[in-house]
Formats: sequence, structure tokens, C-alpha cells
Amino acid sequence: MSVDALKAKIRDVPDFPEPGIVFKDIMPLLADPGCLRETVDLLADWTEPRKPDLILGAEARGFILGASLAYKLGCGFVAARRPGKLPWKTVSATYALEYGENALELHADAISTGARVLVHDDVLATGGTARAICDLAEQLGGEIVGVAFVIELGFLDGRKHLDGYEVRSLITY
Ligand code: AMP
Repeated sequence: MSVDALKAKIRDVPDFPEPGIVFKDIMPLLADPGCLRETVDLLADWTEPRKPDLILGAEARGFILGASLAYKLGCGFVAARRPGKLPWKTVSATYALEYGENALELHADAISTGARVLVHDDVLATGGTARAICDLAEQLGGEIVGVAFVIELGFLDGRKHLDGYEVRSLITY
């Protein structure tokens, strides 16, 4: 299956969640059995040689393929969640979004010192989310072995926030 077949299953939703934003909707891709499998396999092909112990997924869409990737590679999964959602002690980071501001939290004991961590989200836009998650994971003693996305909005140059990390996206706009 080609990357173009995956791209064909990504729906552009203009003016969501705000005027001027073209939202990249991965739900049709996830709903297609072949595309779902291919997406996980392609992400896993890139991730496996980096030998992660943990996949760290961003709320909420980063949980879906992040957990699939963890299962396929035999890793653990850690969730970066919105404030107030995690029940235990947390560490927190606030950052700017393409639309507005956001904050994410990790459980303070989610990552042991020296753990090899692969960060995953569905879309790389401005890079603020992924960078904040990398910073939190490192703060807890993790080593970031890569940052993997399904989609990259290249025109927003989010990679500039991820300088020094290995970054992979399957589809670039
Ligand atoms: P950023 O921090 O700007 O890289 O934004 C990435 C986060 O916001 C990811 O969790 C994405 O799911 C979401 N996001 C930002 N822009 C878009 C977009 N145009 N389409 C879909 N999701 C987006």
C-alpha cells in the first residue's frame, strides 16, 4: 500500500476548530482496516531500530496509534494528558498551539531514569506540543530516541522546535 493511499484517507476540514485552520482528520484513515495496519507498520518500521522502552502519546489522538505501536513493538505506553486528568502526582508544561494555548501533564513516575522514549502524535503543526512532551520526558530522566507523526504540516516549520531530535512523519503537506 502506498503513502498516497493513506493520504487519500485524510480528510481536510476547513475552519475547524477555528476559522482559518484546515483540520487534518485521521478518522477515515483509522476506520479503514488496511490503512490502519499500514500506518502502524510504517511507524513501527521507523521506530523499531531506535529500540524504545516506552511510547509516549499525546492526548488524545496520539493515544490511538501510540498504543498500537507499543503493542506491536513490545513497549510500554505512557499518556501525556490534559491538566486534571491524571490521578497521581504530575509534572506539567504549557505551550502555544497553532490555535490557542494548551498544557499537558505526565505522571511524575511515568518514566524511569534512562528509559528510551519514542514520542508520538498524529499531527506535527507548530511543534509546540511535541517539544513540550519531549521536555517533560527528559525532565523525568527519559532519553528521547525519536519523535514520530502521521502528518506534518511542513509550512508551519514545526521541526525547528524539534532540533536535535530524530523526527519522522509519514505524510507531509
Ligand atoms: P502543534 O503543537 O502546533 O504541533 O500542534 C499539534 C497538536 O495539535 C496535535 O495534537 C494535533 O493533533 C493538533 N493539531 C494542530 N493543528 C492541527 C491540524 N491542522 N489538524 C489536525 N490536528 C492539528
